Amino acid sequence: MADSRPVSDDSGPTSQPTAGGSADSEDEPLLVVDELQTTFYTDKETIRAVDGVSLDIEAGETVGLVGESGSGKSVTARSILGLIDDPGRVEGGSIRFDGHELTDGSWEQHRGDLSIVFQDPINSMNPVYTVGNQIREALRIHQGLRGQEAREEAISLLEAVGIPDAPRRLEEYPHQYSGGMRQRAVIAIALACDPNLLVCDEPTTALDVTIQAQILELLDDLQREEDLGILFITHDMGVIEEIADRVNVMYAGEIVETAPADRLFDEPQHPYTRGLLASIPGRTAEGDELPTIGGEVPTPTSEPDECRFAPRCPAAFDACERIHPEHVDVSSVGTAGVETTDGMSGAEGTRGMEHTAACLLHEDRFEQSPGAATFEANGGDSQ
Ligand code: ADP
Ligand code: MG
Repeated sequence: MADSRPVSDDSGPTSQPTAGGSADSEDEPLLVVDELQTTFYTDKETIRAVDGVSLDIEAGETVGLVGESGSGKSVTARSILGLIDDPGRVEGGSIRFDGHELTDGSWEQHRGDLSIVFQDPINSMNPVYTVGNQIREALRIHQGLRGQEAREEAISLLEAVGIPDAPRRLEEYPHQYSGGMRQRAVIAIALACDPNLLVCDEPTTALDVTIQAQILELLDDLQREEDLGILFITHDMGVIEEIADRVNVMYAGEIVETAPADRLFDEPQHPYTRGLLASIPGRTAEGDELPTIGGEVPTPTSEPDECRFAPRCPAAFDACERIHPEHVDVSSVGTAGVETTDGMSGAEGTRGMEHTAACLLHEDRFEQSPGAATFEANGGDSQ
């Protein structure tokens, strides 16, 4: 079932535990991931699958994590939930949830507060139990509900996720559900844990577009009703545009750009983000073939002293192969004469609203680089 997450103690990280419930936790977002490092030690190589990832999620906010297959999105999700098994280890950085540090091994204490919905609903459920059994089990463990009370709550959860004829469908097995209904049921099981944070790892990728749209709408509704924080993972920029308030773009273990969703789609600043956006149907001139970024995501096996995207980057210049780019503030880049940063802060507060990109093109010292000139020329933006 969605929440049967064996939290293995031996995947314990080496980072220093910090006292839970720190004094300033009230001002802190629901989830604060800081410089997360998750590594797989295989016979052949050391894979730095998550290499210094930082991101925040506020209650009631949907944060997108997007990038091509193999960029480290699922490992990020599993790290947050304490689901990394051998040969992997969360070995650095911090994950604070609701003011509590999780990387000291205390995931178990927060089971149910964090729930995950995976791409493949059939493997997320137990085929030998009815859907109702699985929802009631989650309700028993996480909310202490039993008997009639649990049954009623299970029915209302199935109804909440849009499954008609809920009392009858409760008694059916997963295989009796269609793909879209199964994913709804998985979401119902996840919700039965009464989570504050829902991590959705490509939850609609296996579904056709109509069902996908329904699931996205469902998540949107649930979030508003429950004040859920959602980390929404997908390789599909089109889906991110539908659902995310804020977006993190991931490449080869690192976040390369982060921005409020509108801003990211209007003013992408990292060449990788631009490449991903160009592949959304409708964003390119009619009749043009959709451009794709040539090549594949490299497996990060060593600490970077270069930009990992450089070999595929249309704007790369010499320095990109020698210097690892740090995130720089690009909040006011783009819209000439408009103070974009100020405009976006105000009522919403500033935390998490900033736009940053890890690209040398945005570092002052490289402003006159040949790559920058090419980038502007090819960008096709109104800069
Ligand atoms: P994404 O979800 O973005 O497609 P993943 O997070 O699944 O990518 O994978 C990121 C990297 O971590 C890949 O290079 C993958 O090979 C590696 N990886 C993931 N799980 C394991 C594992 N169990 N053992 C070894 N390497 C792994
Ligand atoms: Mg994945």
